[in-house]
Amino acid sequence: MCGIVGYIGDKQAPHILLDGLRKLEYRGYDSAGIVTINEKKLQLVKAEGKVDILESRLLIENPRGTVGIGHTRWATHGKPSDENSHPHLSNDYTIAVVHNGIIENYMEIKEELVAEGYEFYSETDTEVIAHLIKKYLNGSFEKAFLKTVERLNGSYAVCAIAADEPNKILCARKDSPLVVGVGVGENFIASDIPAILRYTKNCYILEDGEFAEITREKVIVKDA
Ligand code: GLU
Repeated sequence: MCGIVGYIGDKQAPHILLDGLRKLEYRGYDSAGIVTINEKKLQLVKAEGKVDILESRLLIENPRGTVGIGHTRWATHGKPSDENSHPHLSNDYTIAVVHNGIIENYMEIKEELVAEGYEFYSETDTEVIAHLIKKYLNGSFEKAFLKTVERLNGSYAVCAIAADEPNKILCARKDSPLVVGVGVGENFIASDIPAILRYTKNCYILEDGEFAEITREKVIVKDA
């Protein structure tokens, strides 16, 4: 098992995400990464190995942004490597996703996307999610995300952000845990409560099949 953490608010996200990932280390992992949105551009930093390695890269690259998602990976598809680490991006670097679990039908989706010209940069099952969201994006990030989730078989806790919509994090889960942390003017998402307990005690455990849209001001939970 690995971990997910997300933040949206008015503070700088990278150190909150890093702190959350450290709290999730006990779950086991082989690589770690974060992505933030800074001036409508995604800033991605990820690395095979310990969160300490990620931290040293963050010190060099110094990403900024008040919205972001982070991940610790436990490889199921593709070896532990920088390329296979999450987050994964769409080809135009506008969509980023993190995922816990296994997408059982990823091969058939991948073949479809490759035939349509999408390029893959990892061996993971997860990468199809980023490209599917991009493929379905036609005005509404939320609709594209939900249409993507509908296509996935298997287990997932998945979170996505879009560079053009820096005011939200979208999440869904099936057979993999996700918890929403509700703050004041800021909200959180995590695989497990300890990752965000330092910031809020007001937590909502997403149920299987639920979808959440998380903005600075509110959290909307719906049946996916
Ligand atoms: N199946 C995905 C991968 O291999 C996610 C693994 C995980 O849950 O960390 O990258």
